[in-house]
Amino acid sequence: MPELPEVETVCRGLDKAITRKTLARLELRRKGLRFPFPRGLAQRCAQQRITAIRRRAKYILIHLASGDVLIAHLGMSGRMVIVDRDEKHTPEKHDHVIFHLMDGSCVVFNDARRFGVLDIAAEKDLAQSRHFAHLGPEPLDTDFSPAYLTQKLADKKTAIKIAIMDQAVVVGVGNIYAAEALFEAKIDPTRAASTLKPAEIKKLWAAIRHVLEKAIAAGGSSIRDYVQSDGELGYFQHQWAVYDKEGEKCRGCTCPLPKTGGIKRITQGGRSTFYCAARQK
Ligand SMILES: [Zn+2]
Repeated sequence: MPELPEVETVCRGLDKAITRKTLARLELRRKGLRFPFPRGLAQRCAQQRITAIRRRAKYILIHLASGDVLIAHLGMSGRMVIVDRDEKHTPEKHDHVIFHLMDGSCVVFNDARRFGVLDIAAEKDLAQSRHFAHLGPEPLDTDFSPAYLTQKLADKKTAIKIAIMDQAVVVGVGNIYAAEALFEAKIDPTRAASTLKPAEIKKLWAAIRHVLEKAIAAGGSSIRDYVQSDGELGYFQHQWAVYDKEGEKCRGCTCPLPKTGGIKRITQGGRSTFYCAARQK
């Protein structure tokens, strides 16, 4: 499933490829994805210049000259594929939406499992839309600060891993990056959020930003891969420290491995958590 860094990578790739170009038409090849497409969607996009591509949480925002914003979410399996020459593209089974551009290129939204979203809203209504009204700050913005995080965690009895994955606390900290950030901050993911001390919260805040920035930087170098028309999104190969490494050494391991059994996997909120019980307290 694409997490924040992957979506950021897609946005940067789209920005390079289609900002300042004009949409000729939006081809909707079915009635909806996770939700039905809104009425008038294709009409609102026809002949519209694309003025900017932005990201909010895991949504791709395609700003149009009219003041409308296309809101796209890749769901579990969605991909945006840029095709240089539209006429050479033969739509495949799961190519559900095609953005045909005036210059003869196109962007194909392929989503096999159809958990994706494509919606449209006026820019002025964006913050209050059903997609965004309940969301906390962006992890890399200045309004996500140690003071803010301290205040949000103060009364939370839930495990710290669950708390940082709560989109109302901060957006975009998915299962992988929650585990990685807690490892970097050396915090046990099962601790009640309210028990973290100020110094630990500051470490965790810095770790969340650091792991996401690192992943975005790694993704940036793979934009070319996903831009190719062969349909590969180009998820970058992460060097994860603990995620998906049950029984292995953690990064920079000094743990007595025969005694600890290596990285542990437990289930929290129905998702796997990986952590080093020797170094995360
Ligand atoms: Zn370890």
